[in-house]
Amino acid sequence: MTTASAHHEVLIVGGGIAGLTAAISLHRAGIDVVVRESVREVRPLGVGINLLPHAVRELDALGLLVRLEANGVASSTLAYFSAHGQAIWDEPRGRAAGYGWPQLSIHRGTLQMILHNAAVRELGADRVISARHLTTIEHLEHGARATFDIRDGDGGVEVIEADVVVAADGIHSTVRRLRHPNEGMPLWNGALLFRGAIEREPILDGRTMIWAGHPDQKFIAYPIRDLPDGRQLINFIAEYRTDDRQLAEREDWNRPGDLADVAPRFADWIFDWLDVPALLHDAPGMFVFPMVDRDPLDTWTDGRVTLLGDAAHPMYPIGSNGASQGILDARVLTGCLLAHRSDPDTALAIYDAHRRPATGAIVLANRGLGPEMPMRLVHERAPDGFSSIDDVITRDEILQVTDGYRRTAGFALEALASGRSLADADYDALPT
Ligand SMILES: Cc1cc2nc3c(=O)[nH]c(=O)nc-3n(C[C@H](O)[C@H](O)[C@H](O)COP(=O)(O)OP(=O)(O)OC[C@H]3O[C@@H](n4cnc5c(N)ncnc54)[C@H](O)[C@@H]3O)c2cc1C
Repeated sequence: MTTASAHHEVLIVGGGIAGLTAAISLHRAGIDVVVRESVREVRPLGVGINLLPHAVRELDALGLLVRLEANGVASSTLAYFSAHGQAIWDEPRGRAAGYGWPQLSIHRGTLQMILHNAAVRELGADRVISARHLTTIEHLEHGARATFDIRDGDGGVEVIEADVVVAADGIHSTVRRLRHPNEGMPLWNGALLFRGAIEREPILDGRTMIWAGHPDQKFIAYPIRDLPDGRQLINFIAEYRTDDRQLAEREDWNRPGDLADVAPRFADWIFDWLDVPALLHDAPGMFVFPMVDRDPLDTWTDGRVTLLGDAAHPMYPIGSNGASQGILDARVLTGCLLAHRSDPDTALAIYDAHRRPATGAIVLANRGLGPEMPMRLVHERAPDGFSSIDDVITRDEILQVTDGYRRTAGFALEALASGRSLADADYDALPT
């Protein structure tokens, strides 16, 4: 059976972090928007995710900050350590660094449910519908027509026409594949990430994001929820490089990881401030995910169909940019569609010109190790440890990397000096 729904201004394909943010943002701007999501039931999946202050500013503009802060942890420090647990560097983050907004660490499922509930509340349950899997897109003279399989077991389809279709359907985007059938699987850099979350006593001051090791083998941990008994839910990522293709075969966010694959590699990572093998052993489980991205595209927009979030710019999950950049996309798109409401072609061209080069630069920066370069330098210069970090790397060397990455990712302190949200910026013309 085919269900045809009314024509809408904007159709969003994919109710993940970026798609839901776009839906709430466009609706708040008075734009007629609907969302269709593939999964039958939206469930709080994933583990930890990080939101940089510029993304939090946008969620604050949507009235979500109080809820997010109550359900996440504001990281106040980022600290680098060597593979021997020796301190390399630490820097203030979020409000502690002078930003008007926190850097928030939160469970992805919690973030997804906050966004989903807000979208259903604000748009209405008849506009945010699950069990709709996009299969085809057809271009129309002034819009596009999308066809969805209805995943309720009856084998029906739904057809929706819209002035603008926004593909926010993630790293395995159907829209992107239809447009670039030869692109193939995402590109793997040889690293595997074992990700999980564990309830335990805080690490260090309970507000620090720790990165230990070097790009070939690394352990990351940060709290994502304070628990009533003083403990915390701590997100961790144990990462190593391997040529074992089998483990990297398909990047599925929900694929279970095996302790036996990862634990031996971290067996001697016992520091006086953290026992990594014990943490891995005590974790209730973990997921395994290969470090993948895709090459930046020459354009995101084809007719009235554009890409947003991971569908547009999947990047290595380092530097806290995965979700943050999708949120920024959503807000810039809103500003562009508002500024050119009667001319969506111009709106999409300006959106593309603002966001595609900006995110493409982060994809490439992350390939070049992004903010992790100081850890590599320390490992190369002092593989067996050091007595003073000043003998190994200078403060200026580290600052050059970290400040450069902040600028590339768009969260340099000066760029956020104004409280103005990205949706309210000037999108009259293409950026020069
Ligand atoms: C289940 C899951 C768990 C994740 N866990 C983590 C994590 O722990 N840490 C982390 O940093 N990142 C995680 N991510 C990725 C993270 O959410 C994204 O990198 C980032 O937030 C950008 O969000 P996005 O909305 O672009 O993509 P996603 O959040 O991946 O959302 C894409 C959405 O599109 C839907 N979709 C896909 N194909 C279709 C289709 N054909 N038709 C309709 N809908 C479709 C998907 O079901 C999904 O809901 C996870 C993603 C998923 C889907």
